Amino acid sequence: MMKNICAFSALMLTALSLHAQVPQGYWQQEVDYSISVKLDPKTHAFTGTEDLKYINHSPDTLQELFFHLYFNAFQPNSMMDVRSRNLPDPDKRVEDRISKLKGDEIGIQKVSNIKVNGQNVLSEEHGTILKVFLASPILPGDTAQIDLIFEGQVPVQIRRSGRDNAEGIDYTMTQWYPKMAAYDNMGWHAYPYVAREFYAPFGKFRVEIELPSHYKVAGTGSLENFDSYWREDKTEGSLSYLELKPWKPDLRTWVFTGENIHDFAWAADPDYEHTTVKLDSALQLHFFYLDKYDETWERLPKYTLQFFEEMNQRFGRYPYPQFSVIQGGDGGMEYPMCTMLKGTGKINGLVGVTVHEGAHNWYYGILGSNETRFPWMDEGFTSYAEAEVLNAISPSPKVNPHANSFAAHAFLASKPEQNEPMSTMADRYERNRTYGINAYSRGEIFMAQLRYIVGDEAFERGVLRFFETWKFKHPEPWDMIRIMERESGLQLDWFYHQFVETTKIIDYGISRVEAGKGNTEIHLERIGTMSMPLKLRVYLRDGSQFNYYIPTRLQYGPSPDISLTTVAPWAWTHPDYILNIPFDFEQIEQIVIDEEGFMADVNQANNSYPQVEGQE
Ligand SMILES: [Zn+2]
Repeated sequence: MMKNICAFSALMLTALSLHAQVPQGYWQQEVDYSISVKLDPKTHAFTGTEDLKYINHSPDTLQELFFHLYFNAFQPNSMMDVRSRNLPDPDKRVEDRISKLKGDEIGIQKVSNIKVNGQNVLSEEHGTILKVFLASPILPGDTAQIDLIFEGQVPVQIRRSGRDNAEGIDYTMTQWYPKMAAYDNMGWHAYPYVAREFYAPFGKFRVEIELPSHYKVAGTGSLENFDSYWREDKTEGSLSYLELKPWKPDLRTWVFTGENIHDFAWAADPDYEHTTVKLDSALQLHFFYLDKYDETWERLPKYTLQFFEEMNQRFGRYPYPQFSVIQGGDGGMEYPMCTMLKGTGKINGLVGVTVHEGAHNWYYGILGSNETRFPWMDEGFTSYAEAEVLNAISPSPKVNPHANSFAAHAFLASKPEQNEPMSTMADRYERNRTYGINAYSRGEIFMAQLRYIVGDEAFERGVLRFFETWKFKHPEPWDMIRIMERESGLQLDWFYHQFVETTKIIDYGISRVEAGKGNTEIHLERIGTMSMPLKLRVYLRDGSQFNYYIPTRLQYGPSPDISLTTVAPWAWTHPDYILNIPFDFEQIEQIVIDEEGFMADVNQANNSYPQVEGQE
């Protein structure tokens, strides 16, 4: 009996350790929104009410609340305006345009009344942030009922949201309602809207939108009573073309609902074409675009289906019932269950943007990290998935689809005076370009290097486990590191520090090769400031090859690929390393570090012996 119990406990332990778990004591806030908004297209003014249930799962007593009022960024002299005019490389879409907006063109977001648990409370507007002073505190575990009345004006399109975008979409309504700020183990995150990145608690949304009845509305969430708005006009293959059902009264209310989301975006235009296709019984895709772009947009659904199939398999199953690709905005921007993007251009570009913004639904949408503190977790992980998916559906896939990001990163490494650590907050980079390369390229390389270090199998398991453990939660970078450590059995804190908290770069080289007694000495040097495990391939003149692996000492473990011969580890304190191989010098044809180029070495030229001609 005892023996059986032991066997049973051992089984249980294995099952538990395989089961995905967040760290003990983890908590997160929750907010359920019921929003009702009326928009008048004659004046671009809107009024609305918000009924929120804010559940304080934190161990803290809250004395104040913070809301985002994003539209106020589109006013002369706002933080967004002044920052843009003071950057050496401002976003072309912004530059000094906000400073020139007239009264009827600016964005306005005002909360005229706010009640918490039925009591009127005082508030203070700080540009794009509203600070609310609670009359009585919200205790741990309490649910607060919050009622807001708001009004505003939709700005002309400057950045992301606004009216009358460059392609003629009437309304791109993103960052448009008073939005509860995030509160986590670091307290409130009342980030003003300066340029980019968002972070908010998960919850349920119910949004009622009233507009003149000829408008067609697309957005986050599922449309309630879908069939009362849309009917099928025709089908071509698996693609259905939908038509708006006539509606007699002047005004019409659209009602959307969504769960486990942290934002809600919508767009409206009377001239949208609407097509739809099903991936399977659990997921329907929608496309909203202007008729003149139909040639490319009719080809887009096929690729979008391929994208979802690939993502579901490799990065975790998309959990929502719908996804909409919506023409709108000023480029490509991600929102839960939808994206707003420009509709012009060739099919390749449109597919690329759809794949990038779609992949954001995993990194941003479902895994709601603090993008302001860790913009690279959002943009970098998304860019990694984007490159993998585009490569998988490409007719001519590359060995390393991340080579472009390596090149961008190497370029920044050559400009140390412009470089900043990847741990810099999104808005605080001194150059947009440095933000771009760090968040997108170095962030993508973070994933590519993790994979290089822990090996394909542990990495792929880790990516799925990260998704299952942290979906609808707020993971931090070390949560990914911990999972990869457990999957691979290697220690990785050295990698995290060097790669995220510093501007250290990878550059290894073969300094010389010398004949020894019945052996050959390969002298390796660490030229860059960052340590990494090395893969070394030796080609002999007889055509045979031998593969070696030099672990970095702090990983405390061998190569994840057992086909490589693991030799003694290399400590980061040691700039040089000598590898003795049991072959005569004359037998050696060539020696190469990381021949496939999976390590983000900023100078590949010194990675082989003899050096390739014309390189140095
Ligand atoms: Zn992105």
